[in-house]
Amino acid sequence: MKKIALLGATGSIGMQTLDILRQHPDQFDLYALAFGKNIDKAIPIINEFKPKKIVVLDNDTKRKLENVVYHNDILVGNQGMIEISVDSKTDIVINAVMGSVGLEATLSAIKNKKQIAIANKETLVTAGHLVMEEAKKNNVSLLPVDSEHSAIFQCLNGENRGEVNKIILTASGGSFRDKTREEIAKVNVQDALNHPNWSMGAKITIDSATMMNKGLEVIEAHWLFDIPYDQIEVILHKESVIHSMVEFSDNSVIAQLGSPDMRVPIQYALTYPKRLELPQAKKLDLTEINQLHFNKMDLNRFPCLRMAFDAGKKGGTMPTVLNAANEVAVDLFLKGKISFLTIETFIQKALDNHRVIQSPDLQTILEVDQQTRRQVTSYLN
Ligand code: NDP
Ligand code: MG
Repeated sequence: MKKIALLGATGSIGMQTLDILRQHPDQFDLYALAFGKNIDKAIPIINEFKPKKIVVLDNDTKRKLENVVYHNDILVGNQGMIEISVDSKTDIVINAVMGSVGLEATLSAIKNKKQIAIANKETLVTAGHLVMEEAKKNNVSLLPVDSEHSAIFQCLNGENRGEVNKIILTASGGSFRDKTREEIAKVNVQDALNHPNWSMGAKITIDSATMMNKGLEVIEAHWLFDIPYDQIEVILHKESVIHSMVEFSDNSVIAQLGSPDMRVPIQYALTYPKRLELPQAKKLDLTEINQLHFNKMDLNRFPCLRMAFDAGKKGGTMPTVLNAANEVAVDLFLKGKISFLTIETFIQKALDNHRVIQSPDLQTILEVDQQTRRQVTSYLN
């Protein structure tokens, strides 16, 4: 029986992870969970899974939760997430929080040699070098939950890394893939939240529409698979059936396919190298789909992807700025304070204003993250 600490339990990935745990009560026990503020979503989870430890965002949420559920171990904030991640009883940490807040808990879990399933790509974008360095030092493998990275991980299984030509990440194109830039200048929050293939949290849905999600995934792939940026390609594939591919030195290409359902990669990250049944996931029927489409990625149409490649190649604190600026800009858009295209304007401005620091330590990363957040917020005035 594996004891799980689930960070981000009330989110889209969190809830789908719980669905997996529910299917395999003989294999997994939800030992601890962390969430932000969504008490209404958390209460039924707590009642059902009876975790020994709970972490909430702040003291206010803790007080509110204490009024409705009896629990004598409610922890708070980043410190709480670190505590459940290093707890001697925890076997697997699933990081499914939104944003770079997941960084310190992930680093602590790695230092304590926990098995890690990582959905939280912002952690790898903001400080990939620190995370991978710790993982190497502690001989911990990070099992990817992101569907593209789970695909690549599976395509690389048993292969010689030296024989990889390139990784091909597929992108669905998000909510506005068929719109021109003139058309997306006028879109609103509701339009942007309407993703054609995946039902996900609000932030990643906007990231998919701006194509920043694919940009973050390029940086995530660079770190997870130790591959240079010029060996990572992105192509549009609107059906999200091929989750990603790897091309090898003999020009052979291995792809991983499936119906779009995040429970598949989530479960694989928990059971690797084994595969368990997942009856509730839709089987792939290619004859029903009939056609798959592929297009070249246009970096002028999707400048966020270009910014991510550039920031990744510059390295150091550049990806930290990219990520923090994006988190703030998307939040401002979701609150109705800026237009859709202003997201990319704000990110570009933050990148232009930053003087890169190479090989930053954790303290530097956290400082640059906070500075960038303040700066981008100030662009509003
Ligand atoms: P959601 O917004 O649906 O959920 C985020 C979760 O994180 C919620 O439980 C939220 O709590 C919690 N949270 C947010 N801020 C904090 C904080 N400061 N401290 C503690 N908990 C916090 O996001 P998703 O599930 O969509 O995405 C999670 C991660 O997985 C992201 O990094 C995303 O890029 C990645 N991912 C998601 C996919 C998807 O299909 N959704 C696919 C691939 C990757 P609360 O709501 O209670 O405040
Ligand atoms: Mg993905």
